Amino acid sequence: MNNKKILVINCGSSSLKYQLFLMPEGINLVKGLIERIGQKDSTIKQEHKDKTIEKKVQVKDHNQAVKVMLEAILNPKDGILKNIKDIDSVAHRVVHGGEKYSEPVIITNEVVNDIENFADLAPLHNPVNLEGIKAAMEQIQSIKHTATFDTSFHQSIPEYAYMYAIPHELYEKFRIRRYGFHGSSHSYVANKALSYCKRAKENTNLITCHLGNGCSITAIAFGKSVDTSMGFTPLEGLVMGTRSGDIDPAIIHYLLDKGYTDKEVIDMLNKKSGLLGVSGLSNDVRDIEKAAKEGNKQAQLALDCFAYRIKKYIGAYSAVMVKVDILVFTGGIGQNSIYMRELIANNLFNIGIHFDKDKNKLIGNHIGIISTDYSPVTVIVIPTDEEKKMAEDSYTLLFQ
Ligand code: ADP
Repeated sequence: MNNKKILVINCGSSSLKYQLFLMPEGINLVKGLIERIGQKDSTIKQEHKDKTIEKKVQVKDHNQAVKVMLEAILNPKDGILKNIKDIDSVAHRVVHGGEKYSEPVIITNEVVNDIENFADLAPLHNPVNLEGIKAAMEQIQSIKHTATFDTSFHQSIPEYAYMYAIPHELYEKFRIRRYGFHGSSHSYVANKALSYCKRAKENTNLITCHLGNGCSITAIAFGKSVDTSMGFTPLEGLVMGTRSGDIDPAIIHYLLDKGYTDKEVIDMLNKKSGLLGVSGLSNDVRDIEKAAKEGNKQAQLALDCFAYRIKKYIGAYSAVMVKVDILVFTGGIGQNSIYMRELIANNLFNIGIHFDKDKNKLIGNHIGIISTDYSPVTVIVIPTDEEKKMAEDSYTLLFQ
């Protein structure tokens, strides 16, 4: 078999996550996280087999973070590789691929320029993704680097579903439309669910719920995304940890009129809303579930708002796809919260979802089916693995 070692890099504004996979088996060889890049107290944590290193390091920017990552991977004592040449390719996560990229690609100068140009659409993400790409291409030369875009899986959404009902010239001038995000996760769990249920994509419709800090839900027919809840930016759609999801846009104007600044309103919608905003407590479902159990009414309200919005989207996507075969839960909340899954999927008999409360408890945070044996819609928990999906993309592009 054509074994390859693929390094996956995922750069956030002040962090760099990495994993090395042995492909095509998808075996994780090492996993690491560099945090607080550009601050005084940067750290690196690296795990492989039973070895964990965790220490403070000086990391002033993403270029230096790539250096620190390579030192850790190649360290003769705690590292995993003897030589940088043992890396066969590098897979990078890029948030926005605009309308141009509907598939993962090998990174060329043209791709670098495009990622730079799409920064206008994802100012918090694309520039920092690009910094990681440039640093890695400089330090890990003579192999190919690939990019997987969060938006590309959703490029199959039909025009009537991605177009906002605003003057068309805004689409023509600024490309304002629904793009959708979390594409790697939705496509990864959909494929896993199909193989778990032994079904072919050609005759299976799925709804995938990615419920993490960010949350989105996608309708998938014939293996292709046909609608998704996040839109022009990741702010639209479901209630999230700190993001509002759907609101009446007139609220923004109303708040500006009341004296709030632009920045305050956008900050509020992105960082102070969602579960945190409604509960007034936390963005973490674990804290909110605990408080609700202890009788905190606002905490219960936050959980109810969260579940209700998802139910509405499940109903809407059932209507647009006519029939649904599989409903998938994934992400930190979807995978771990037994309570939240029940709150969302119980009592949806009218659309063929016969939820099994006992199975739901038994499955806990593992892969498995949580609907009854006779349920027309199979409800299933699938742990997501966006990094593995990126390694698969890189392997398929370069070595298959
Ligand atoms: P990210 O979107 O940052 O990758 P995750 O997918 O890891 O986030 O999801 C993080 C969220 O998962 C936490 O904020 C928390 O609300 C939720 N979560 C994690 N473990 C549990 C648990 N055991 N019960 C309920 N919620 C959980």
